[in-house]
Amino acid sequence: MNSHLPKIPLVNLSLQHQPIQTQIQQVIAEIIQRGDFILGQALAEFETAFAAACGVQYGIGVACGTDAIALGLQACGIQPGDEIIIPANTFIATIIGVMQAKAIPILVDCDPDTALIDLTAAEIAITSKTKAIIPVHLYGQMVSPIKLLDLANRHNLIIFEDAAQAHLASREGYRAGSFGKAAAFSFYPSKNLGSFGDGGMLITNDAKVAQTMRTLRNYGAQSKYLHTEIGTNSRLDNLQAAVLNVKLPYLEKWNGDRNLVAQYYNTLLEPLKHKGIVPIANHSSSRHIYHLYVIRVTEKSPINRNTLQEKLAENGIETGIHYPIPCHLQPAYQNLGNPGDFPNTETLCQQILSLPMYPGLSNTQIEQVVKAIELSINR
Ligand SMILES: *Cc1c(COP(=O)(O)O)cnc(C)c1O
Repeated sequence: MNSHLPKIPLVNLSLQHQPIQTQIQQVIAEIIQRGDFILGQALAEFETAFAAACGVQYGIGVACGTDAIALGLQACGIQPGDEIIIPANTFIATIIGVMQAKAIPILVDCDPDTALIDLTAAEIAITSKTKAIIPVHLYGQMVSPIKLLDLANRHNLIIFEDAAQAHLASREGYRAGSFGKAAAFSFYPSKNLGSFGDGGMLITNDAKVAQTMRTLRNYGAQSKYLHTEIGTNSRLDNLQAAVLNVKLPYLEKWNGDRNLVAQYYNTLLEPLKHKGIVPIANHSSSRHIYHLYVIRVTEKSPINRNTLQEKLAENGIETGIHYPIPCHLQPAYQNLGNPGDFPNTETLCQQILSLPMYPGLSNTQIEQVVKAIELSINR
């Protein structure tokens, strides 16, 4: 219907990279000249800088966020057979990380308004085997640190944060990744801070966890050819770290831009609430870093989520679903639960839609997206 209007992608990375491309090419050229590719200088710099930005002492770069979870849990002392409580409403990588650490993932439902882990459900799921809880700071908003710390202290649990979507988010005065025993980040290209490939990091204030993690990621070697742990090869490439070093100083600004985009969406979408279009609730105001801007297309809407997504696509507006199938209903993970076990998660998967969100998305584009939603549900 409005096919003459310019298309709007879900994310636009070239917009972000274009102004810093020369700078990036220069640091890459320097590394090529030095031949400094593995566990190099840029990596050490980035580990220090990123951990400091999160208000934490140690950073250990690894190959991806999934490895940061898997190896990070082992570094925190998780043993095979330990139970770890995680939200059913997460990206599958959280579960993969737990399983690679040979721990047992215990899924719990989410809060339907925030899509974050339901801490009441989490408390009920605690058994004598429960060793840790993994809050997933989904879409860029943290799970309440105050409530989590209270829960973890009362039950003597380790908090291990999955902060893969929450670089520099904060809530209640705590920065993402700073209040648990350790936290995992991902630098997958489309994350708020992304490399030019895969990348991840564990951050922690615990010197022993940091030391074990450095060993685990490097063949379990404490020093060259002395293997004190059964480790693996999972290091953040020096080239990727160099790219991330260039990008890190811009992260606060980019996060702020995302928050402004979200605020404008919120304002424009407000009148559509009575038509069943409801944004996921923000309990972090300006410190929600909006990795994704997600709306729910509820039962009150005249059309369902899939139809809305199709109509937006016809209008040149790309959207996403994060995530369309709950983890416990995935073919490979059906032992984690049965249909109906996590009703809020299952309903959300049917209702959620991620709208275009990136630093530099203009007000005109935001208006175009909301106008298209309005037209789609009014016909
Ligand atoms: C991206 C992501 C991961 C995994 O990170 P990779 O770098 O892709 O391995 C883990 N958890 C969540 C919530 C994520 O969004």
